Amino acid sequence: MFKKGLLVIMSLFLCLGVLQTTASAAGAGSSSLKLGVNDKLTEIEAVPVKGSYYVPVRALSAELKWTLTGLTDGIAVAAGNKSVRLLNNNGGLKLQDGTIVPMDSFLKNGNLMVPVKISSYLGYSITFQGDKYLLRVRDGSAAMSDEAFVKQYQDKLKPQAASPAAPSGNNGVKGRTLYLTFDDGPSATTVQLLDILDKYEAKATFFMIGPNMNRYPSQVKRIVKGDHGLGLHGMTHVKDKFYASPSAALAEMNSDNAVLKKISGAETTLIRPPYGSKPYFTKSFRDKVLTQGYHLWDWNVDSEDWRYKENSDKIYNSVMSQVNKLQASKISPVILMHDQKATLKVLPRLLETFKKEGYSFAVITKDLKPLNFWNDER
Ligand SMILES: [Zn+2]
Repeated sequence: MFKKGLLVIMSLFLCLGVLQTTASAAGAGSSSLKLGVNDKLTEIEAVPVKGSYYVPVRALSAELKWTLTGLTDGIAVAAGNKSVRLLNNNGGLKLQDGTIVPMDSFLKNGNLMVPVKISSYLGYSITFQGDKYLLRVRDGSAAMSDEAFVKQYQDKLKPQAASPAAPSGNNGVKGRTLYLTFDDGPSATTVQLLDILDKYEAKATFFMIGPNMNRYPSQVKRIVKGDHGLGLHGMTHVKDKFYASPSAALAEMNSDNAVLKKISGAETTLIRPPYGSKPYFTKSFRDKVLTQGYHLWDWNVDSEDWRYKENSDKIYNSVMSQVNKLQASKISPVILMHDQKATLKVLPRLLETFKKEGYSFAVITKDLKPLNFWNDER
């Protein structure tokens, strides 16, 4: 890793090409991909490191006709009338509006490597399809669809290394898909939450509490009608009641399902016990409840949106960092959030970024292999 921003600028602009700084090692299980830029398959090698694909910023800039300018605090990258600044010493990426998003860079064979996603902040869209070895940056000038692009270059896309680029994760959920989940609703602000999801054409899965459904029945109907995922979160949300016994837990889920059915006509087999399944939802609980056909879902990204209500930045940065880590293992994020007013503030920003990074939003269904803290696949 480099220490001095000056070194970076020197290597960039004087093209010394003699710096041999070691990069963080790429994950052994994943291969480099050739980067597609609009309708062209370039010779740029995108290297996977900790969940992101990195490319030499110089080569990428040459392909996309960007201008690089060395400044005292970093490097300005300009594309047309848009520009961002890559701050020295891994200080992140400063956007035009002053926001700083986390972004690492490193030197490899004298080249400054930056995440491909830097292009998303300059107005480009990025597609990644691990199973097709497709990593493509495009703007409005691209004529080919991703499908056509894959067809055109299919012989060249596959890495020469024998190992496939997309090992499956251990939870059966893979690819650039993301699962948004909201607990504890519906609430007085579910309408606004659904409006935001609609705006971004995003679907989510709602783990709802029976009495809240009774209080906001029209919200439940809208969730069902909007093809969002449906899940049960019990009736009391009180630890000593829900976890009093396996039968108590089962009775709460059954009652919750009955409320859902009464209001919307729909039922579900997806459950998330209050506070998540660990440590209380032990084997005796799971045996009792899951043998009744329920599927247990926890999460692998905790937004802690209940804890940091007033700190959108903290929630945003933490979620993005967890999501990016999972992407390294090709494991789809299942994000825990809450149907509450405070979450409305950070949600648009998260959805905006997810869209830019090429994620699609799927709902949890009974056909997916359940993701939970006990690895209980029932
Ligand atoms: Zn809850």
